[in-house]
Amino acid sequence: MNSPKRYTITAALPYTNGPIHIGHLAGVYVPADIFARYQRMQGKDVVFVCGSDEHGVPITIKAKKEGVSPQDVVDKYHKIIKQSFEDFGISFDNYSRTSAKIHHKTASEFFKKLYDAGKFTEETTQQFYDEKAEQFLADRFVVGTCPKCGFDGSYGDQCEKCGTSHNATDLINPKSAITGAIPTLKETKHWFLPLDQYEGWLKEWILEGHKKDWKPNVYGQVKSWIDDGLRPRAVTRDLDWGIPVPVDGAEGKVLYVWFDAPIGYISSTKEWAEKTGRDWEPYWKDEDTKLLHFIGKDNIVFHCIIFPAMLKAEGGFILPDNVPANEFLNLEGNKLSTSKNWAVWLHEYLEEFPKQQDVLRYTLTANAPETKDNDFTWKDFQARNNNELVAIFGNFINRVVVLTNKYYDGIVPKPGNFSEVDEQTLTELKAYPAVIASSIDRYRFREAQAELMNVARLGNKYLADEEPWKLIKTDEDRVKTIMYVALQIASALASLCEPFLPFTSQKLKSMLDYGRSTSEAVINMSGVVFGEGVEENEWEQISAGKELLEPGHAIGEAELLFSKIEDEQIQKQLDKLEATKAANIADNKKAESQKEIATFEEFSKMDLRVGTIVKAEKMAKANKLLVLKVDTGLDVRTIVSGIAESFKPEDIVGKKVTVLVNLAPRKLRGVESEGMILMTENAEGKLVFLNPDEDGVKNGTVIT
Ligand SMILES: [Zn+2]
Repeated sequence: MNSPKRYTITAALPYTNGPIHIGHLAGVYVPADIFARYQRMQGKDVVFVCGSDEHGVPITIKAKKEGVSPQDVVDKYHKIIKQSFEDFGISFDNYSRTSAKIHHKTASEFFKKLYDAGKFTEETTQQFYDEKAEQFLADRFVVGTCPKCGFDGSYGDQCEKCGTSHNATDLINPKSAITGAIPTLKETKHWFLPLDQYEGWLKEWILEGHKKDWKPNVYGQVKSWIDDGLRPRAVTRDLDWGIPVPVDGAEGKVLYVWFDAPIGYISSTKEWAEKTGRDWEPYWKDEDTKLLHFIGKDNIVFHCIIFPAMLKAEGGFILPDNVPANEFLNLEGNKLSTSKNWAVWLHEYLEEFPKQQDVLRYTLTANAPETKDNDFTWKDFQARNNNELVAIFGNFINRVVVLTNKYYDGIVPKPGNFSEVDEQTLTELKAYPAVIASSIDRYRFREAQAELMNVARLGNKYLADEEPWKLIKTDEDRVKTIMYVALQIASALASLCEPFLPFTSQKLKSMLDYGRSTSEAVINMSGVVFGEGVEENEWEQISAGKELLEPGHAIGEAELLFSKIEDEQIQKQLDKLEATKAANIADNKKAESQKEIATFEEFSKMDLRVGTIVKAEKMAKANKLLVLKVDTGLDVRTIVSGIAESFKPEDIVGKKVTVLVNLAPRKLRGVESEGMILMTENAEGKLVFLNPDEDGVKNGTVIT
């Protein structure tokens, strides 16, 4: 399937319990947008859909806390999120929401079809119930210790630390998130998707079929889940917010948010088709369609295992061709966090840097967490803008436009004979569309954008070497040829930069009066389809060495594409983050006193000792766990520690560590652990043994 007839591109549905920040943009929406814009420019039939994910427990928790209805919560954030996407030029053909009628209908029918076909198993099980709150505790209403990595703040449905998805009853030491009570078990009936029955098929489809073309981080995660063994997953919940389960005997139950949310891609496509008078079905059912899910790494299990199993069970749908998930973006060395307000919020960014969306898009792509977690820093943002966008791209365009206006009143001059340098430069230019396209086709957007900048460098160097501003005094004819060549590079740049820097492209095209300006309509999410019926698109014209601006064509006046970002602007952002840190420190004090104050007696109960690791080995079939033997000075005991991904066993034997020796023993994967090693994180977020004086451990780093 090298040249599919059409593309269905989805971007993760943002969860509507908060606005969106740069991490979302970098991980999902900018790469998806680059891909969609690029395919449209190639004349491909594309539908690019998304929408707000408005069901699930966290929204009801937030509503309860704020004393409003869940609908109020989702209405508020749906509006903010949708606006942010429009502001940043994310060119969705349709942005829907899962509270929309069309989605409720689509998801209900999907469930009903699977139900009628006997694809679910029905089970009456014991579920957690909070006697105080008088309600069942689904998903995030329960917190406890992750059975896989031992993290003790894991949610009922997924551990945020190791990413494992599980059932609430798998948690060790579960607690109600509403009242803090220890939940009781109560009988309730639910429907399950028997994922175990899809294991063989998933192995064949992903592990054998997509070993080469899926990103290693995605493939690795999926493999590890399948290797661990899949179990049936409930697709319904005892909750009053969501899509009612459309069968008899299901009162008070709704579809599990992770069953309904991905169907949102289908409903969003339907909504788009209704608006534009098209047929949605080929986009989801024709084998000649390439279905792509752009997501962050926390969503891999749902898009690579659960949703495909649902589609497979339904039987009439195509499966994703690729799921190019990204890792996470950090901010100034710390994890982005909504609750700690450690973020650059998109709506706030635009207040501080008006009309500079492309600078952020550029920086986020240049630092995209494509293969590993990456860091956004304001200094880097400034440097990327000043040293690359202003000094290279902007400088080149400004020279071309200013000189053309100065020498020829803005009219493209007729060239004379090309010199060797001219020929070489134009030949080099011809190669770029294919080079950039090849990177985009492989989801390597950083690399693609770096190549784009090489086009600007090519132009900049050409002018610097040829020096038309000097030659104008001695060889006017030669200058005509130079400016003609430079104008061709400038217009090529206007086309090639469109997927990455849509606002810049639009501005540049209008400055040069060149090409079709498609950006505006796309940015307004009008649902207009571009590129169809065009014989040769702009990228093809560049590759073919066609004349992009002909002699006699009139260009407009120079406008600044990018402007320098001053130190004070950056300092202001850094100060803002420092203020957030200070506020968090103040808030944490409150939070701690709210929690439960540890008395001196209680603290004295902790028996903390210095010990030495005398033996370390990996626990079989557990990626994260090491089994350690630790000499505590009193005895040598076994401690199971979730640090296998950070340390090799052979590297830590002989290390001195801090041990909590009187922690109640607990069994992890059948091995009894008799204590806990105290750990922390260094400046890079890497797990280290507790030793605050080394490794650049920052104030406020949690000891676990
Ligand atoms: Zn975990």
